[in-house]
Amino acid sequence: MSEIIYPTTNLKVTETLTIERGDGAYVYDTEGKQYLEALAGLWCTSLGYNNRELIDTTTEQMGKLAYSHMFGGKTHQVGIDLSDKLAAMVPVENAKVFFGNSGSDANDTHIKMLRYYFNAIGKPEKFKIISRERSYHGVTVAAASLTGLPPNHTNFDLPFDALGVLRTDAPHYYRNALPGESEDQFVDRIVNNLEALILAEGADTIAAFIAEPITGASGVIVPPKGYYQKIQAVLNKHGILFWADEVITGFGRTGNDFGCTTMGIEKPAMMTLAKQLSSAYMPISASVIRGDMYEAMIEPSAKVGVFGHGYTYSGHPVAAAVALKTLEIYERDNIFGRAAELGEYMQTRLREFLDHPLVGEVRGEGMIAAVEMVADKQTGQPFEGGAVGTFAMQACQDHGMITRAVAANSLAFCPPLIVTVAQIDEMIEKLGLALNDTLDFVTKQGLL
Ligand code: PMP
Repeated sequence: MSEIIYPTTNLKVTETLTIERGDGAYVYDTEGKQYLEALAGLWCTSLGYNNRELIDTTTEQMGKLAYSHMFGGKTHQVGIDLSDKLAAMVPVENAKVFFGNSGSDANDTHIKMLRYYFNAIGKPEKFKIISRERSYHGVTVAAASLTGLPPNHTNFDLPFDALGVLRTDAPHYYRNALPGESEDQFVDRIVNNLEALILAEGADTIAAFIAEPITGASGVIVPPKGYYQKIQAVLNKHGILFWADEVITGFGRTGNDFGCTTMGIEKPAMMTLAKQLSSAYMPISASVIRGDMYEAMIEPSAKVGVFGHGYTYSGHPVAAAVALKTLEIYERDNIFGRAAELGEYMQTRLREFLDHPLVGEVRGEGMIAAVEMVADKQTGQPFEGGAVGTFAMQACQDHGMITRAVAANSLAFCPPLIVTVAQIDEMIEKLGLALNDTLDFVTKQGLL
């Protein structure tokens, strides 16, 4: 082994896989074995591996200006160009952009900016944030508090009470609907629950509602039609800001520029961007806010003399250059349009597995999906624990494909956006083999 404390890993590490190199949609281990990267790393390597243009951009920028910070108004052209480009792309009105290094720290920045903004407009009591069950927003103390997953809280004494995180329903019809409830009834029930929560807490105490347009890391949940329209109506009625966490869904993943577009979310007040922003070649994130929020923050910062928030690597020039080049490639090569077409194909092919004895639900949109394995197809009864998901993930790996088990027993699919139809076919073939191995396993274990 090694001295590494592995992130998001059972610390009783029994097995590791040493990845040595990547090329296109594939990575290779030290034995030279090839794996199709069906999760684009951690939902991030949109342009695949060994992209020559991104590598050249990196080395050129490193040669020119390897580092410069943005404190006290220092700036550089790639940072300016990137912020211009992003502001023009996002559906946030008169967008202003704060750069960070990861999705988690970008969400922390947003929490702080919300407080700063509401303090500035004389509403200091309006700081609570509504987040959903089974959401993933990162792992710093604040971001993990927003996250709605028990493993990110247990033994860490989270969520952190002072943050005022309120929890509302996950919009997962398959898992959370009551017996006999239609999709419309389900949506109405959870939207009513949201409104009841707002009334109980007092709208004047709630700053924002955070949502991944399509939930990613906790199981790929695509809300039913009409959900966001109704959620937005309730939030608008009560003066609560919509905060879109687009860390996974941003930049073509769902077949459009942003998940907000795909899901009909109009004019979010804030947007979190990371991952595909740079195709993961460099760590960079962006916390985007509405222009009027920024305007309101100017006066109090002038009084103090500084907006006292910033990272050493906020607006790192190499990361900014790589992100700018990534956005240029997206546009030039029509990557989002391609993702829409490929996505339709991928979703159709994955739904073939609905006939498989283990598969209860296939869900997804565009180039993101999950296949959920269940103990009883008729009732949707889940397997207890996560052993089946772990087995299936390992079986995929044995067959030369990397994916992740999410929400215990679902396998997630989120390949690089540059995959070919033939590679999607390869993914389907390998998944078929892995599901059959898993069926043998559960049958032998008497789990089915
Ligand atoms: N928000 C969402 C929606 C995410 O999926 C993730 C990471 N999977 C994060 C935030 C946190 O990003 P990071 O791991 O870069 O801190």
